[in-house]
Amino acid sequence: MFDALKEKLSAMFSKLGGKGRLSPEDIDAAMRDLRRSLLEADVDFRAAKDLIAKVRERATSAEVLQSITPSERISAIVYEELISLMGKPAPLTISPKPPTVILMAGLQGSGKTTTTVKLARLLKDSHKPLVVACDLRRPAAVEQLRVLADGAKVAFFGPEKPGDSDVLAVVKGAAKYAEGHLNDVIILDTAGRLHIDDELMTELKRIAEILPPHEKILVVDAMTGQEAVNSAKAFHELLGLTGLILTKLDGDARGGSALSIRAVTGIPVKFAGTGENTDALEPFNPGRMAGRIMGMGDIQGLAEKVRAAGITQEEIKSPGKIAKSFDLEMLLKQFEQLEKLGPIEKIAGMIPGLDKIKDFRAEDADAKALKRSKAIIQSMTREERRNPRIIKGSRRRRIAEGSGTSVQNVNQLLAQYEQMKKMFKSFTGSGGSRRLKSLFGFGR
Ligand code: GDP
Repeated sequence: MFDALKEKLSAMFSKLGGKGRLSPEDIDAAMRDLRRSLLEADVDFRAAKDLIAKVRERATSAEVLQSITPSERISAIVYEELISLMGKPAPLTISPKPPTVILMAGLQGSGKTTTTVKLARLLKDSHKPLVVACDLRRPAAVEQLRVLADGAKVAFFGPEKPGDSDVLAVVKGAAKYAEGHLNDVIILDTAGRLHIDDELMTELKRIAEILPPHEKILVVDAMTGQEAVNSAKAFHELLGLTGLILTKLDGDARGGSALSIRAVTGIPVKFAGTGENTDALEPFNPGRMAGRIMGMGDIQGLAEKVRAAGITQEEIKSPGKIAKSFDLEMLLKQFEQLEKLGPIEKIAGMIPGLDKIKDFRAEDADAKALKRSKAIIQSMTREERRNPRIIKGSRRRRIAEGSGTSVQNVNQLLAQYEQMKKMFKSFTGSGGSRRLKSLFGFGR
């Protein structure tokens, strides 16, 4: 997601950056570009207008225009205004007096049932959640929740017999079950419909009377763009929502709804779904989101992963040293560490500047490619790893054979190595050490 927006903003800033000092006309042109990019990403037009007004006001200050790097200053302003558009992170309310009741609502297909289990799975570390099947109209929905909950090892409660249609009896039964089994969080998977209707709203209100929810969360599909915003508004008017969960942020949605839904509806986005599996849910973090859009990578997320993988500050040497001593031995070590960090395509998007490497595509950097790259380096002699320049035609053929790959694969790996070496060199200029350290979340 956000790929198109990210690309357009990047183009806009390189245009601005090429100009040196900026005139008010340059700012006007940039603001027009910004407006077009936001609208094309499906950002609500009022939210886009407000954001641009704020950016323009700050960007045209004498201090920014006369600075040596106005384009970088404006980029920082856009980044800050994107964060403020999305609002502060909004944590889930947990009642001091258990159980915490979370009512999950959503239109059919929004991802509500999957998200119910994802949320329970996320809470499992510090709580004992129970998911409850309240969509009794569709027996398949009850079964889907049961199967997903089983898979995620989350406690499930549903109607006694298939075909039972008394939702309120299920809710009462769930409350009793939770008390007996010490479940301190109850997550209600309510009925999904194609459209909002009176019957559904009456049912949701009745459920809320029996088990007053601490959170009323609407699950919305980010791929549906402004539709998502409209359904959030409608549910909010009737139900008084406390939060939103956006799903399918991993897809190729243009992403505007993620940026503007809070500004338009006033409801905070609490989590984001990033995949079909029940572990693909993360707290919605405006800073990270804005960082990704501005091509700054997700430094915070990456730093957390780096620390979790046990990589220490000592390993992030000074950039000059890395650039000089960066050989294939080191690259192999990096690949091994990357494997520890988790799914590679998720990591790739977090690394600032990686997308600027020519021909780099995150989907290519999958686990298989990583294994292949490792095998190629492992088939090299020590000397070759230390001094990749000596790897010419016949050596390339031998390495390809040894690693069960092709000469083309070997060529690709060597090209990738050269690109990375160049990237490290780019960190050797002024401020490079600071940038490299902050890339890994150290010493900021
Ligand atoms: P419900 O009808 O609202 O309960 O929706 P479901 O939970 O059955 O989800 C509908 C479809 O969306 C399923 O195929 C899910 O696997 C898929 N889905 C849900 N959340 C996500 C997500 O964050 N990313 C992706 N790619 N798919 C999702």
